Amino acid sequence: MKADIGVIAGSGLYSLLEGAAENDIDTKYGKPSSKVGIGRIGKVDVAFIPRHGKEHTIPPHKVPYVANIQAFKDLGVTRIIGIGAVGSLREDYKPGDFVLFDQFINMTNGRRDTTFDEGKVVHVSTADPYCPEMRSVVADTMMTAEINMHKTGTVVVINGPRFSTKAESKLFASSGMDVINMTQYPEVALARELGICYVGIGVVTDYDAGIGGQEPVSFGEIANKFAESEQHVRALVKEIIPLIPKKQSCSCSRSLDGAVASKSVLE
Ligand SMILES: [Zn+2]
Repeated sequence: MKADIGVIAGSGLYSLLEGAAENDIDTKYGKPSSKVGIGRIGKVDVAFIPRHGKEHTIPPHKVPYVANIQAFKDLGVTRIIGIGAVGSLREDYKPGDFVLFDQFINMTNGRRDTTFDEGKVVHVSTADPYCPEMRSVVADTMMTAEINMHKTGTVVVINGPRFSTKAESKLFASSGMDVINMTQYPEVALARELGICYVGIGVVTDYDAGIGGQEPVSFGEIANKFAESEQHVRALVKEIIPLIPKKQSCSCSRSLDGAVASKSVLE
């Protein structure tokens, strides 16, 4: 059982891999969010994990992020495409638009966010957390698709499951953050620790509380908006996957070079 590319997204994308085998996988960090779907898109073996479980029963703060990324690693995945709903913190990032993340700000708490808890001290750089090679492929593909897309975006990741207050939204927006989400962290950081390329795509579902004078929306409205975008997401993912070079020319797989503390540093 192996795969080249991992996709982690909402359960609505299950149909991406029609007729895929569902595999019960256990990792040294426990089970991932659900059985892992493995199938082919073109000539590429693709593994799919619905981040919140197949029936959307796992809240953002309880997603088994470490097991999900380790499951991909165990399958031999070298590249991950992560997709999620985001709220907009600026008026020109409109509902229905897609955002290609280039930076994150972590405002979560209490989540296990490293695989390096014991044994050795490792400080992985997340200065540029998203894979430049994958970002370039996705940006080029999105330019030709009928999607209004933004090539850059700083995503602030909150713990949830509650949505922001108007004051929090105002603070995030005035601090230069572009969109808000509950799952990008620690997902992208864990991929980096394991030397896996990660590209993050946000689908704007709403304006965050009070942004642009808009009234806050309910989760139901957000889910409906995301569902409207799903056909575009599916089409995009199917188009991107065959275009991603098999051979990595980025430095993501070398994320541990110089990151492990030596004995002399500790003394
Ligand atoms: Zn990379």
